[in-house]
Formats: sequence, C-alpha cells, structure tokens
Amino acid sequence: MSENVHDRALQLVAKGRVEGLEDSERDWLTAHLQDCEFCNEHARRTDRALRLLRTAAIPVPADLASRTQFRVRLRAMEMREREPKRRMLWLACAASWIFGIASAPYVWRVFEWFGQLTGAPKLALEIAFGLWWTIPALFAVIVLLLEGARHSDEPAWVKPER
Ligand SMILES: [Zn+2]
Repeated sequence: MSENVHDRALQLVAKGRVEGLEDSERDWLTAHLQDCEFCNEHARRTDRALRLLRTAAIPVPADLASRTQFRVRLRAMEMREREPKRRMLWLACAASWIFGIASAPYVWRVFEWFGQLTGAPKLALEIAFGLWWTIPALFAVIVLLLEGARHSDEPAWVKPER
C-alpha cells in the first residue's frame, strides 16, 4: 500500500467525525481499516478522544490535541470556498489562535507570577500553560461536533466501543 492510501484513510477518519462520509467513502474506509492496523488504531483513538470531549472537559494528550487542531485547520481550508457561512467561525478561531500566540509571553508571565505566589512546581505551571493553548482548538472541535450532530443522523462514533 502506498503512503497516499493511509493519508486518505486518516483524512476520511477526520472527515467522518466532522461532517460525515458518503457511502462510497465509508465503504472504502471500512475496507481499509480492516486491513490496516495503523489506521484502525488511529480511528479508535480519535473515537475515544471525541467521546471524552463530549462527556466532560477531560485533558487530552497534547499530541492528540495538536493533531486534531491540524485536521480541523485542513478542513477549514477545504471548506472555506464551499461554505461562506462558516467563514465567521474560522475567522474567530484564527483570531483566537493569533491572539494566543501574541499573548503567550504575557500569559506565561502570569503563570510564573502565580507560581511564585503559590509555590506551585514549575512542571504543573508548564502543563497548565500547555492546556491553555489547547482551548481554542478544543472549542473549534466542539463547535464542529455540535454542527455535525445536527446534520448527520447517527455518526459512527456515537455507537459504544467494542
Ligand atoms: Zn492505513
């Protein structure tokens, strides 16, 4: 199997969670996931993370958050031309990411100040600082999930895990 096959599978996994798949795409993905342990594992992890996100604000691994953010951005680029209605959402996300980058030094100073005040260990501050960064991405994912839930009747990830 070539690299492109797995790329396509991972893209369809993301797409399926965000906006649903066409029948032909779902058939293709199902067949691929049966053969490919790597993509299958990725799909399982995505499902698990999304389920956690839907039930509670549980911190997810930073790696997963950034991958999700990357895929959300990919979808954003693809959808921008097709659906002008969503432009405001992506502008808001982009603005919050840009603001996040611009304000990072100040935010870190606040965390440092808090650390000096409370004597909290540096590691805890760094984790809190890292989580701060995932907030815009998680917010975007939640908005997309809410939208997706309205459009598609029963997405695959609603079903309980085996
Ligand atoms: Zn694969």
